[in-house]
Amino acid sequence: MYAIMNYPKKVFHWIDGKEVRPATGKFFPKMNPATGEVLSFVAKGDKRDAEKALKSAEREFAVWSEMTVVKRAEILRDAVLQMRERKDELAEIVALESGKSKKSSLGEVDAAIECGFFFVGEGRRFFGIVLPTAVPNRRVKLIREPVGIGALITPFNNPAAGVAWKLFPALLCGNAVIVKSHEYTPYVAVWYAKIFKEAGVPAGVISVLQGTGLEVGAPLVADPRIEFVSVTGSAATGQKIIRATANRLAKVSVEAGGKNPFVVCDDADLEKAATIAVSAAFVDAGQRCAAASRIIIFDKVYEKFKKFFLQKVNALKVGIADTDDYGAIISEKRMKEILNAIHGAQKRRGVLLAGGVRLAGEAHKKGFFIAPTVFERVSPKDEISKKELFGPVVALYRVKNLDDAIRLSNDSQYKLSGAIHTSSIHRAEEFIRRYRAGVVRVNGPTHGSEPHMPFGGMGISGNGWREPGTQALEFYSEWKQVSVDFDPSRV
Ligand code: NAD
Repeated sequence: MYAIMNYPKKVFHWIDGKEVRPATGKFFPKMNPATGEVLSFVAKGDKRDAEKALKSAEREFAVWSEMTVVKRAEILRDAVLQMRERKDELAEIVALESGKSKKSSLGEVDAAIECGFFFVGEGRRFFGIVLPTAVPNRRVKLIREPVGIGALITPFNNPAAGVAWKLFPALLCGNAVIVKSHEYTPYVAVWYAKIFKEAGVPAGVISVLQGTGLEVGAPLVADPRIEFVSVTGSAATGQKIIRATANRLAKVSVEAGGKNPFVVCDDADLEKAATIAVSAAFVDAGQRCAAASRIIIFDKVYEKFKKFFLQKVNALKVGIADTDDYGAIISEKRMKEILNAIHGAQKRRGVLLAGGVRLAGEAHKKGFFIAPTVFERVSPKDEISKKELFGPVVALYRVKNLDDAIRLSNDSQYKLSGAIHTSSIHRAEEFIRRYRAGVVRVNGPTHGSEPHMPFGGMGISGNGWREPGTQALEFYSEWKQVSVDFDPSRV
């Protein structure tokens, strides 16, 4: 058991294969979301720490990138096997940092391990392409090369999976990386870096920087030595990073948020749809980019669906026990922002059907827990219908027919995921065709991708790249076109 007493009292950077104090000498508190108490103190990084990490990445990039991809995959396989061996430890770190149950954290860690195995396998399938040519006595091929030194900017939700999704493909492709840990989940990436070191990844190939986006993330991505940035975070952060790297045309993959619709048609299995809608809306307290936040219901079955839905919402248990359905909001600040958005929608005459409050009973103490919250009669133009809240809040909308449902589904700048519940193949196919997003599901939840499935969105949900799956290799490597001319008469 790893448990709270093993969680470091101070979380440092990881640079050049060891834990490093911040140049500022300062630390900021990391709170335990489940108790509201200080869990640890985290290094307050700045530009000087980024410089150290960049220097060691520059030095070690050549060693790692010149190793064969099969050898790199073997080293990564040892890391994944270690992860599997010590998965309880990682799950307990995730549970502590995120304020969710061990069971839910283990599910996330298992997905991270599967992601590792997937990319390790890709080491023996890192194929190039042989191209035909119009020119006689010429051979043409495409080969893959590493991009260079990259910044991996990670989100707080699902930190173990979030880091694994980027780290495994980036390293497999031969890059050196600097992970910018999320300030709310600082230790997960350091834990990974230690495991990778033991498995044989050279020091300097992975560094981890702690601190805020402004103080350490921004100078890191602004540095011209950073050739690619993969960021999972808000659309606003993605936009800032694209602007900061635009002059040098760095490669940037943005995985941003969602305001995902969940459509319930009048021919759906209503009880089943309600069960799935509840899980899609409240998974990880709604802190999932693919969570459903707009439930769009055909008029004819609105009241019946609502009854099933509310019954299930009212039965949800909130807390960090394995029997609970979801845990805490990541920070007090985020919790207050979500509660303010709820109160704002109430003031604008949104009707609250459930929740809307912080949970403060004995089981929740001073933790950052919000009751499952359901609105109806909010305008599709209202702020609460437009803004990604990243919390346990959904709104129900009433529509006449499929056309209206698709129109409302598309009425968002976000275009990440969406689901339709129907028994009609015709309606399902129409939704698949006309709903614009990176992920569409029929009779399932809006969330729940797997490591081999490319994931990403359109609109302000993403900028066209897809991670993970083999498609992630397109981002983390560059194609080089090679042609060789030969002369048979000189044999
Ligand atoms: P955020 O944008 O506030 O922070 C994300 C990361 O970016 C953090 O590590 C932060 O320190 C860093 N950062 C902030 N400003 C920066 C800058 N100028 N330069 C470099 N780094 C900077 O996001 P968040 O609120 O912590 O995370 C939640 C968001 O992430 C939600 O919008 C959610 O939908 C999204 N998300 C998307 C996916 C996906 O795959 N599409 C998955 C999970 C979360």
